[in-house]
Amino acid sequence: MIDRILSNEEIIQLKNYLERYNNIVLTCHLSPDGDAVGSTLGMKHLLETMGKTVHIIAPDMVPRSLLFLPGAKDIIAYSKYAELGNRLIGNSQLIICLDFNTPKRLDNLAPAITESKAKKILIDHHIGAEQFCDLSISYDKMSSTCELVFRAILGMNMYQQVNRKCAECLYAGMMTDTGNFTYNSNDPDIYNIIAMLMKKGINKDRIYSLAINTSSADRLRLIGYSLDSKMEVFEDCGAALIILTKEELARYNYKKGDTESLVNMPLQIPEVYWSVFMREDDEYVKISIRSQGDFAVNTICEKHFNGGGHKNAAGGEFYSTVDEARAEFYKIMEEMKPTDGEENDNK
Ligand code: 5GP
Ligand code: MN
Repeated sequence: MIDRILSNEEIIQLKNYLERYNNIVLTCHLSPDGDAVGSTLGMKHLLETMGKTVHIIAPDMVPRSLLFLPGAKDIIAYSKYAELGNRLIGNSQLIICLDFNTPKRLDNLAPAITESKAKKILIDHHIGAEQFCDLSISYDKMSSTCELVFRAILGMNMYQQVNRKCAECLYAGMMTDTGNFTYNSNDPDIYNIIAMLMKKGINKDRIYSLAINTSSADRLRLIGYSLDSKMEVFEDCGAALIILTKEELARYNYKKGDTESLVNMPLQIPEVYWSVFMREDDEYVKISIRSQGDFAVNTICEKHFNGGGHKNAAGGEFYSTVDEARAEFYKIMEEMKPTDGEENDNK
């Protein structure tokens, strides 16, 4: 038995919306990850078994590593096809927002979604969802939005309608948001859910191999260079920092997704409990932070890097140079230093 998390009221309202409307748009956050792509696609496959017309519009492109998921190639990138996106949003009766908690995460797609007259539903697992939808299903204890979608499906008594394609996509999101079930994954229900998804005929080893364990030679060399020549460890503060400039990225023919999971690697060092990765981009420095234990990095990203996220995995954008971003990192370490008489109990 899997615990009931969603309230009866939420289940009834969700089911009513899904049954009532036929033209549905699904959307997710900028730089969609496995959970964003998996939850929108999983929902799409479910809705299609109900005979609905469904389009997924993402703010930008789906990374190459996720294109193997059934239906991923049909996801419309608003950054490239804004006119088509606007038309589909204009025709939609219902919009489901998955895996983000604020319209800001939609980037240039935000106005089209927030100004649309369609009914809106949010399904998400980030802390502190903003109220911009008619129905908000937000549970920050969930490992992933995909897990929450699956629980919603169970709540609506729709497990029978889950086909292999739907199960594959939901599994992919649960797997990627927990680092293949190595963090944020101690709820026993997760494994009951996996068993139920596997009964739909998915090959979880293949999904792992394609979504996580596939690299180009350039990417492996970039990771090697980053760890060898760029990683700095600040033992006093339990921190690690890796900064990559545009010039360095170009040297290794950087493609989107090539630095995925690099930020996690310094956490393998026992003394390091928070790890920062900064990647120079055209207009800003992209920040990723990961931590272990009670040290919250979403608040750091909110305060210093125009971002947010989860307690142990967060990110943001810093609108200045890499040198200034480094200076900001030093500022954070300075703030962490215990004042006289105070114990530093972060670890
Ligand atoms: P990543 O480091 O993989 O880009 O992001 C990790 C998590 O941090 C994401 O799942 C998301 O919750 C959050 N995050 C990343 N970038 C941003 C950002 O620019 N703004 C906000 N609000 N959250 C972000
Ligand atoms: Mn997620």
